[in-house]
Amino acid sequence: MPVETNNKKRQIKPPKMRQFGGSLLILLTLLFLLNAIVPSFFGPKLPQVPYSDFIAQVQTGKVDRAIVGGDRIEYALKTQTPDGQATEQVFATTPVAIDLDLPKILRDNKVEFAAPLPDQNGWIGTLLSWVAPPLIFIAIWGFFLNRGGGGPAALTVGKSKARIYSEGSTGVKFLDVAGVDEAKAELEEIVDFLKNADKYTKLGAKIPKGVLLVGPPGTGKTLLAKAIAGEAGVPFFSISGSEFIELFVGVGAARVRDLFEQAKQQAPCIVFIDELDALGKSRGGAGGFVGGNDEREQTLNQLLTEMDGFDANTGVIIIAATNRPEVLDPALRRPGRFDRQVVVDRPDKIGREAILKVHARNVKLAEDVNLATIAIRTPGFAGADLANLVNEAALLAARQNREAVIMADFNEAIERVVAGLEKRSRVLNETEKKTVAYHEVGHAIIGALMPGSGKVEKISVVPRGVGALGYTIQMPEEDRFLMIEDEIRGRIAILLGGRSAEETVFGKVSTGASDDIQKATDLAERAVTVYGMSDKLGPIAFEKVQQQFIEGYGNPRRSISPEVAKEIDREVKQIVDNAHHIALSILQENRDLLEETAQDLLQKEILEGAQLRERLNQAKAPDELAQWLRTGKLSEDKPLMQTLLV
Ligand code: ADP
Ligand code: MG
Ligand code: ZN
Repeated sequence: MPVETNNKKRQIKPPKMRQFGGSLLILLTLLFLLNAIVPSFFGPKLPQVPYSDFIAQVQTGKVDRAIVGGDRIEYALKTQTPDGQATEQVFATTPVAIDLDLPKILRDNKVEFAAPLPDQNGWIGTLLSWVAPPLIFIAIWGFFLNRGGGGPAALTVGKSKARIYSEGSTGVKFLDVAGVDEAKAELEEIVDFLKNADKYTKLGAKIPKGVLLVGPPGTGKTLLAKAIAGEAGVPFFSISGSEFIELFVGVGAARVRDLFEQAKQQAPCIVFIDELDALGKSRGGAGGFVGGNDEREQTLNQLLTEMDGFDANTGVIIIAATNRPEVLDPALRRPGRFDRQVVVDRPDKIGREAILKVHARNVKLAEDVNLATIAIRTPGFAGADLANLVNEAALLAARQNREAVIMADFNEAIERVVAGLEKRSRVLNETEKKTVAYHEVGHAIIGALMPGSGKVEKISVVPRGVGALGYTIQMPEEDRFLMIEDEIRGRIAILLGGRSAEETVFGKVSTGASDDIQKATDLAERAVTVYGMSDKLGPIAFEKVQQQFIEGYGNPRRSISPEVAKEIDREVKQIVDNAHHIALSILQENRDLLEETAQDLLQKEILEGAQLRERLNQAKAPDELAQWLRTGKLSEDKPLMQTLLV
């Protein structure tokens, strides 16, 4: 997005060693040029004469003097002008080979001759032959140093890769960050600290040293950190946790030291450490193998030392970001270090609309585009997803040569994000197509009857993304933060609806339902082992959450007896079986609707909008549905429909 492109990043002034390499290269080039230019510059350019002509001229007595070199002879002719003025004509020739007769011939013809003076420019050659090899070596070394991270690791020892953004030039303001108002409100304070440090220090208050931004990827943590620097107009150092981790033990620690040294010189400023978890993983245990990771531990220790080592009021504020706060070493969160945690969560509906507005600022929107509707249709999207969505829509509009981006572009863009790119090249045969059509309509009919799962918006048999041969899109009407028991049951039944339709219509199943089955089973298992929704087993957590695991208490699953394990398996199977039964029962009840809709879908490839909704509204609920949703149990008197399982 444009916010980031106008950063005038200025590479930090490289330490002397780096420049050394560069200037040596220039010096070398100059020396070579000098050597090449000098002789031709000072040596006269003489007319070239064939060697035989020269000999002939000597023998006819025309030559006055000659300077005889190994590979070049220069000579002057005798000149007698009528007025007695001597104008000398000088020529040059190249001997064919070493002519041992030449001195004799010259003497015989009374030519004055001599060997050339030692080369006047020879010292450069001599110097070069001594100096050049080491210079070339050092130049290559310097070249690698200049390339920073690209060169051999050993050559970058101790060099911080921190970048500096000069004053205020992150170019990001709080206005560019939307939908995270609470985080923004907390961070306003930091901006004030940076701008008016006196106000706080006068009263003896300590400015916080470290702020930890916690939130899922793409929610705008980096953006917020930049916005703080931008608002306060202070330099912004940024480095990623993973950049500290190097091949050699000790390098990361040196980098931390270097980074803080630079930062202290530039105070007030912001040091931003992205992916803190890469560096700050809990020491001991979490490494997974004995001995842990020495390099990471040393780097982390150095960071802790540095954070303790400078006075709170120097004006260096360290902001770190992570999406896995639970793995961070507790030492990092101690007071005086990253004691402030700011949660940057996925935006809610209103937040999403605000973010869409920010990113649509530079996009031409058509009249029919309603950002609020787009916000409703994008639950779970983070800021980065929304930025991407706006861009995708704009690209689609441009591809269609439209004047402005229309709502349909946004809808297609959402679908791309949710289901992947259309793959019309994936051609299905008739049987496959039919199977896919009934499968998708099966999902849709059951989806229409289940609580809390939103409207079925679209059914398509156009392949999309990596694996989907067809798909059904259900759009929630609102943001949801909890799933109620009956909704989990409903969800499992919807997932099994595709396979159940195949069973109902064809009496046999395809491989197309494997993903649905996987998800349904996972959800059922979670209901039993994590959410405590099984009556028989009760509210006992059979899985340990990661936090506890990391702090070093053994295995991820609570130790359970074989009987309980068996019971868990039975409960999971019961939940899935009952949902399957309900799915089959619903499709039985709506057999005609299933037929009609699937045939329609086969013809049109895509069913959507009001027409689809009208159809699905006709779906009838079987008697046992309400009870099953409420209790998860089926009435005993209705046996499983074995007939369908042939
Ligand atoms: P994070 O660091 O949390 O992973 P980034 O800050 O790198 O996320 O976000 C990536 C991009 O997504 C940003 O450059 C911005 O274009 C967009 N973005 C994310 N969150 C927001 C937000 N809250 N408001 C506006 N744009 C956002
Ligand atoms: Mg980031
Ligand atoms: Zn399916």
